[in-house]
Amino acid sequence: LIIGESKMEQTFIMIKPDGVQRGLIGEIISRFEKKGFSLKGLKLIRVERPFAEKHYADLSAKPFFSGLVDYIISGPVVAMIWEGKNVVTTGRKIIGATNPAQSEPGTIRGDFAIDIGRNVIHGSDSVESARKEIALWFPEGPVAWQSCAHSWIYD
Ligand code: ADP
Ligand code: MG
Repeated sequence: LIIGESKMEQTFIMIKPDGVQRGLIGEIISRFEKKGFSLKGLKLIRVERPFAEKHYADLSAKPFFSGLVDYIISGPVVAMIWEGKNVVTTGRKIIGATNPAQSEPGTIRGDFAIDIGRNVIHGSDSVESARKEIALWFPEGPVAWQSCAHSWIYD
């Protein structure tokens, strides 16, 4: 069965510069892919300061904001749109807690990161943030396609 469009969600996932430099792109994409989510947008992109500040605008009052922006612009990132049922919440579970010291083993941050300022990956925290972040990073919109495995993933 094709699951109702209303239950489908999209989220914005970004492999941060440390994840790219450390050769974790394939490993990270693989985890989302093997879970059953669908890749609907993908690009390797280096962004400039005003763009990174816009992405993290909600955190502009935090003491770590300028360091965070320095980190995100320090090298290319992999920007992605992933689609699936509950992908926003489940994506955050796959990623793990913000501080890798608290991330469970088996999560991306739990397995591959140590410090909060080098935590490898970003994932939208709500459907609303996902919508905003996808619009910012993918003004061209998602790629329209459906996996032939769809009916083997959804009941
Ligand atoms: P998350 O990425 O899990 O949604 P936040 O939205 O709270 O976490 O923070 C955005 C990013 O800012 C984090 O992923 C991390 O890279 C960085 N960050 C958060 N808190 C700190 C901190 N105390 N010190 C340094 N960097 C931080
Ligand atoms: Mg966040």
